[in-house]
Amino acid sequence: MALDDIIARIRAAETAHGRVPGSVTLIAVSKVQPLDRVESVLTAGHRVFGENYVQEAAGKWPAFRQRFASVSVHMIGPLQTNKAKQALDLFDAIHTLDRPSLADKLARLVQTRGACPQLFVQINTGSEPQKAGVLPDQADAFISACRDLDLPLTGLMCIPPEDQDPAPHFAQLATLAARNGLSGLSMGMSSDFETAIAHGATHVRVGSAIFGARAYA
Ligand SMILES: *Cc1c(COP(=O)(O)O)cnc(C)c1O
Repeated sequence: MALDDIIARIRAAETAHGRVPGSVTLIAVSKVQPLDRVESVLTAGHRVFGENYVQEAAGKWPAFRQRFASVSVHMIGPLQTNKAKQALDLFDAIHTLDRPSLADKLARLVQTRGACPQLFVQINTGSEPQKAGVLPDQADAFISACRDLDLPLTGLMCIPPEDQDPAPHFAQLATLAARNGLSGLSMGMSSDFETAIAHGATHVRVGSAIFGARAYA
């Protein structure tokens, strides 16, 4: 299946770029995919998935978690502050921490729960006005504000501009992460995950190359 091909390409890219074998986590992005396609990837043994919408994830993953052990679900879409509590119930990682109001809300919720999902700060590396994410020149300040709130950060995430070579964006994200002592790098999608691995990606988010094209209703 396509999953095996993508895993083989990830392992080959790790070897080619001197990365530790198995050090890159494949997040299979299952948003908007029919349940039977998601189930076949689960049945094939894959356990790490990505979702973009809280409501969609809520309708899908509690049932799959009952049937398949050790599933981990990563939120990779924009997160509304009023859905933060529900997100903490649903997700093992949130890749889209992108503004002070969300950091404040998560910090308050995490205080009372005592547990926190992995958190990635989304950086708008292309400074695109329509795109979510912290602007690169505000990243250091935002990261230290999160740390002041006792939010444990795993790393940084980016979605490069569609019409540009992603490589400089991946390099920029890696530089920002290293400067801030963060080891996680969530970058690379179906079309560019090997380039992302070359630049140090620890998490690649691959959807259509595994599941096929998404059919939006
Ligand atoms: C949908 C999505 C992906 C997966 O995109 P593909 O091109 O299908 O691999 C990865 N990251 C984010 C943030 C997404 O929204």
